[in-house]
Amino acid sequence: MALKTPEQYWDSLRRLKRRVFILGEEIAEPNDHPIVRPTTNAVAKTYELAQQPEFAGLMTAKSPLTNETVNRFCHIQGSTGDMIKKVKMLRLMGQQTATCFQRCAGLDCMNSLYGITWEADKEMGTEYHARFRRFLDRVQTEDLVCDAAMTDARGDRSLAPHEQADPDLFLHIVEQKQDGIVVRGAKAHQTGALNSHEVVVMPTTAMKAGSEDYAVAFAVPADAEGITYIYGRQSCDTRKLEATTGDVGNPNYGGQEALIVFDNVFVPWERVFMCRETAFAGRLVERFASYHRASYGGCKVGMGDVLIGATATIAEYIGVDKASHIRDKLAEMTHMNETLHAGAIAASADGYRLESGNYMVNILLANTCKLNVTRLPWEISRIAQDIAGGLLVTLPGECDFANPQTGPYLKKYLMGVSRVPVEAKVKILRLIENITMGTGAVGYLTESIHGAGSPQAQKVMIQRYGNWEHKKDLAKKIAGIV
Ligand code: SF4
Ligand code: FE
Repeated sequence: MALKTPEQYWDSLRRLKRRVFILGEEIAEPNDHPIVRPTTNAVAKTYELAQQPEFAGLMTAKSPLTNETVNRFCHIQGSTGDMIKKVKMLRLMGQQTATCFQRCAGLDCMNSLYGITWEADKEMGTEYHARFRRFLDRVQTEDLVCDAAMTDARGDRSLAPHEQADPDLFLHIVEQKQDGIVVRGAKAHQTGALNSHEVVVMPTTAMKAGSEDYAVAFAVPADAEGITYIYGRQSCDTRKLEATTGDVGNPNYGGQEALIVFDNVFVPWERVFMCRETAFAGRLVERFASYHRASYGGCKVGMGDVLIGATATIAEYIGVDKASHIRDKLAEMTHMNETLHAGAIAASADGYRLESGNYMVNILLANTCKLNVTRLPWEISRIAQDIAGGLLVTLPGECDFANPQTGPYLKKYLMGVSRVPVEAKVKILRLIENITMGTGAVGYLTESIHGAGSPQAQKVMIQRYGNWEHKKDLAKKIAGIV
């Protein structure tokens, strides 16, 4: 059976023998660490929903590669309909977890490598596609999570990979052996690193002559020898270490980023999908980025749904929900959120078939969608904070509510409408705090700017695909200029 249960997923992670550091300490069982556990729960949700008949249409797909029903997070998209379902699946997941659920980066990476390996083989006579398909077969059959490791440390951004003062600032091949390659370097901001079974490495940028050793793509098991994970901090993360979870806001789910260091990691040929083909590095980056930029019009929209719901709820709890300006602001939030979704659906619906047989999003629309994502969640959050009021940042802690000396005062003076218990008001405020400035804001705000490339990267693509010459011709024709 190609679908793992959430329990089987948890067990499979606990079997990995990884070298992991969190808050300065080496942690033997990282997924059971209180800061990490909610992030693993978020990925486990992709397994849980796939088991539920009402979500099966979105969460699973029939794989033509294995002829089995697989989790859609492992599926190679074979139609525009498949890509639309993916976006809707991500919105559903965002609604259910209100966080970055991490697994889509690997999905977008696999769809990118599927086409790029095919094209490299055709143009260069290599044999990457068959290798990649064997890897993919195992990912689908064993229902694995892949970390998409693209972003290098990058040091001095004005220099090419091979020009850096320290050659390891971009991950590169340090040795070629008969049976494989040895690589060294680091990948930063690795979403879901500790919730993945495999790390799939891709180059971070287009490569020119001289950077051949940096044009490398491969997969290694998450516990391969030589890999070290250093966990990234998030705002308010230590609230998860408190005895109770009342101040966390989203106690069950969270997103995760880590730095992955590759210290002379051996990769057998069977797992190498690009080796010094500089011409394909930029193409792979562009493809992955475009897939993932459309994904943001799914996941962030689902988070937006939760934030709009939380904002409407606090308005009701404090008795302002009927005010026309509040309803107008909720409509504004909804309009922006649906605009993001429309971009992703359009990028998917207007996609096209690649020579390899799988489907690609419309690149201009995907980048337009993501550029909107770098802006609108901030505006949605601004309105959420406007309606929530200052209590969002002046609210005493759960321990103050529990203290018999202060609790009665807090319950008396922080009351909203009398029919709603003050505890409910506190919980919804903490959720808004989490999404707009706590651990959840990593996924909803900062990741919206920098994930899948920062805003300027989308502008570069929009310049490339905007076709201004064609638009000039249109204008000239209308104006009667020959
Ligand atoms: Fe998935 Fe969104 Fe997180 Fe990217 S940012 S991994 S698309 S949930
Ligand atoms: Fe992301």
